[in-house]
Amino acid sequence: MFLVRLIYVSQTTDQFKSEDIKNILSASKENNAKAGLTGILGFSHNTFLQCLEGSRKAVNALYHQILNDERHQNIILIEYAEIAQREFSKWGMGYLPDTALTSSINLKYSGNDQFTPYEMTGDSVHKMLLELCDQVEVI
Ligand code: FAD
Repeated sequence: MFLVRLIYVSQTTDQFKSEDIKNILSASKENNAKAGLTGILGFSHNTFLQCLEGSRKAVNALYHQILNDERHQNIILIEYAEIAQREFSKWGMGYLPDTALTSSINLKYSGNDQFTPYEMTGDSVHKMLLELCDQVEVI
């Protein structure tokens, strides 16, 4: 089955508690490995940025679950593409801590030095995630 990449951005709701990040990551690492999914999750200033890779069926099924998760809102699909190969295959769900999202990386890929993925193109977000995964320690 062929591969797709899906990238979305969202914001926390009042139901989100700081310990949820740990829970989301541990559930993701376990569930995603079983479903053949890989990807990266960034989190800064109450904003999630997530890239999912896997079969079209698995990516769509997880995205539906994620859309129904009440811990986040304003979920906007940034990019959906058919891909030839995975780029984040090292991680069932790697985590980029907010310290990775520095002013200089934000300025390189967006119109200012803040983390504003809602205002970025899919191409910029994708390239920014690739650079970050090369440069910082993904948890
Ligand atoms: P259950 O754990 O039984 O969840 C039942 C319902 O409750 C779901 O709608 C779930 O979204 C919601 N829920 C679960 N825990 C809480 C809580 N503490 N507070 C409020 N609502 C809750 N899951 C993955 O498997 N892989 C991922 O890559 C992934 N990425 C995510 C990224 C973000 C930004 C968020 C917010 C969630 C992510 N999740 C991910 C979690 C996903 O939304 C589901 O919670 C998870 O897949 C389990 O769902 P479930 O219905 O099978 O199980």
